[in-house]
Amino acid sequence: MTHIPTRPALAAVGQPCVARAPVLIPMGPDGVEAEFIGFDGLDGQEHVALRFSGRHPDATRPTLVRLHSECLTGDVFASARCDCGHQLHEAIGLLAEEGGILLYLRQEGRGIGLYAKLDAYLLQDRGLDTYAANRRLNLPEDARDYGIAAAMLQALDVSRIRLLTNNPDKVAALRAAGIDVAEVRRTGVYVTDANRAYLQAKADRGHMFGPGTFRLPVRGVVRDTAEIGAGGKNGDKEADY
Ligand SMILES: [Zn+2]
Repeated sequence: MTHIPTRPALAAVGQPCVARAPVLIPMGPDGVEAEFIGFDGLDGQEHVALRFSGRHPDATRPTLVRLHSECLTGDVFASARCDCGHQLHEAIGLLAEEGGILLYLRQEGRGIGLYAKLDAYLLQDRGLDTYAANRRLNLPEDARDYGIAAAMLQALDVSRIRLLTNNPDKVAALRAAGIDVAEVRRTGVYVTDANRAYLQAKADRGHMFGPGTFRLPVRGVVRDTAEIGAGGKNGDKEADY
């Protein structure tokens, strides 16, 4: 295995994180190509970076980056209980156009794993929200570690980014780990009958950069939570971080 030379970075376990050789993979009906890159020195999980060259890249802007936590049910089987699959494909579409990096983090169910996520779904069917269900199972509400994502970016020599997210926790964690998040670009929120309660719970936790009291629509796509804030536009639409 030939490793591309990169500057070693420290992963969560304190080992140097080193990128493995990139492998080009065409995807989907349009044949969008991305380099799939694994890493040595992470936490034992096979996190992977997808690097897109982009049809119309702008080298003067910071690298567009999306952190996507694995969701087998949403990403592969298009589950309607969350909007992960929609957000993943939105990110791939943007990255294919502008270039950038998707970090696919093997942190299923916000880090609690697939089986525990399914257990939590059972509790949600009995009326608990996504966070209360985790607490009932004696599991953390959110066990994800974004320090791993920072180590992956550093191993790829990416230190200044535009982050595609609605989650302020990701911005804070990357900055704490030394990544310059120069700009935040929001993702769409894809509301369906089946996922509305899940998304509302996230919104109530401030996970969409909007005020904590806003109500999501019954169905549809929200592309900017500032537009549905309690007081209308809340002035942070051009989120520049
Ligand atoms: Zn999901």
